[in-house]
Amino acid sequence: MRYPKIREIGEAVVSLFTPAYTTPFPGKGHEPFTGYRGKPVVNEKSCVGCMTCANVCPPMAITVSDDREKGIRTITRDYGKCIFCGQCQEHCITGKGVELSDKIFDIAVTDRKEIIEYQERELLLCRNCDAVITTSDHLFFLHRKLGPKAFSSILNLNMLNQKLKLEDPEKIDSTVEDGLKRKDMFNILCPNCLREVQLKTISD
Ligand code: SF4
Ligand code: SF4
Repeated sequence: MRYPKIREIGEAVVSLFTPAYTTPFPGKGHEPFTGYRGKPVVNEKSCVGCMTCANVCPPMAITVSDDREKGIRTITRDYGKCIFCGQCQEHCITGKGVELSDKIFDIAVTDRKEIIEYQERELLLCRNCDAVITTSDHLFFLHRKLGPKAFSSILNLNMLNQKLKLEDPEKIDSTVEDGLKRKDMFNILCPNCLREVQLKTISD
């Protein structure tokens, strides 16, 4: 039989008479220090669904799936995988789409599904090939950010026309069904299809 070392017995005796190092949760609430990095909290009004945070999240706690049939992007945030690194907050393009709170014990749950959050954003799809361009909120955010410079992009111009209802819905706000034509220059197209129309316009 191996006997414990004297040093270990000493440590055990000392620990009996010293206060606990850990927080007595849930008996007492956690008191975070300044700058404590806890559970990220999404600001629904400021998150535009651009997926930048998903691209920078080291443990891939944030994932994105696009349903083109429904025209919806779903952002899934699994805080069971989060390492509280703050990358999502630091790289958020709006600067306030997600911020780390000082709460950590909110994610102490028995069922991991309870700490998975979802956000849904409307997708912007190419009216010709159905490719995902981005989300509508993302593009409108760029409008606000860039101001008049946004109109150097024909896609931005067409989106604004749609929002202000300046276009003729019969001619423009519709799916391309009989091949790309010159008029589709003023439709919502992905960069590839827009390039195709422009090349067609030059060669015609
Ligand atoms: S706006 Fe910010 S929080 Fe929302 S998806 Fe983009 S980077 Fe993430
Ligand atoms: S804090 Fe880090 S690990 Fe957690 S969701 Fe944000 S980027 Fe991912």
